[in-house]
Amino acid sequence: MIASPPASQAVSLAIEAAHKQFSGNNDGKNASYIPYLASVPSHLFGIAVGFIDGTVIEVGDTSYEFAIESISKVFTLALVIEQIGAEALREKVGADPTGLPFNSVMALALHNGKPLSPLVNAGAMSTASLVQGKDAEDRWRQILNMQSRFAGRRISLSQEVNQSEQTTNFHNRGIAWILYSSGAMYSDPIEACDIYTRGCSTLITAKDLAIMGATLANGGINPVTKERIVQSANVPHILSEMMMEGLYTASGDWLYSVGLPGKSGVGGGILAVAPGKLAIAAFSPPLDEAGNSVRGQLAAEYISQQLKLNIFAPG
Ligand code: GLN
Repeated sequence: MIASPPASQAVSLAIEAAHKQFSGNNDGKNASYIPYLASVPSHLFGIAVGFIDGTVIEVGDTSYEFAIESISKVFTLALVIEQIGAEALREKVGADPTGLPFNSVMALALHNGKPLSPLVNAGAMSTASLVQGKDAEDRWRQILNMQSRFAGRRISLSQEVNQSEQTTNFHNRGIAWILYSSGAMYSDPIEACDIYTRGCSTLITAKDLAIMGATLANGGINPVTKERIVQSANVPHILSEMMMEGLYTASGDWLYSVGLPGKSGVGGGILAVAPGKLAIAAFSPPLDEAGNSVRGQLAAEYISQQLKLNIFAPG
């Protein structure tokens, strides 16, 4: 049985202490392979916790709109798992950790061109190619709509981020063609790469991310709009993918210290989901070598420990 969520006062204290403690940490660097991301002020730092009753508690820069990047992979996964079912998703994309960086070509070479996880670039493009729709624009609208339903407000594409990504994403285009040759790309590869890239180029706030995560913590019902977005049976599949690959090569270390399924993006966003309780969202642009927000990881670890959220330590 899941214990009840921690009291809001304890959460406020924990996030304020985390913000104070880690805002002076200057380790890591903004992502620079996407030019836009290099220009985001590195000092920005926000933490938001979203409860399953729809309450959100925030500290710091929680209204700054940042690029969702790889966190988008979770919501496209949710869309496709709803459309084709959990077993088809596992068979066509996979449900295993890669143990390699998010844009690894080696991971594909080692596994006969199968992505293994929908949360690395290869698997996310493969998943985008599985969105059921009449054409690429229709698939894109559904991806954007899914992000919006999770956030409970209309999420928009940033033309600036998209332009920055689309003009530099040659490596991802190469991965898309490798997937096509191995039979793990289910639409035109460049179309899939394009809509995947657009999906990474939307803007969200830490507060949005807290609500998006709280929707997963709440079994697939957005706690603010009360809309069911994902069948409850599919939520554990999404969270297990996050657990295995959410922070790429650091997924094991993250789990060891935070004890929650998580997902990061190179825009500096990071999400941790405590099922049945709440979600922790943080935003801070400087990343470690694996591509995960440095302050975001420290904050999630601190908050999870303070509030005893580790799913392997019940009670
Ligand atoms: N758009 C980025 C890419 O495809 C997302 C990567 C990430 O956030 N890890 O490389």
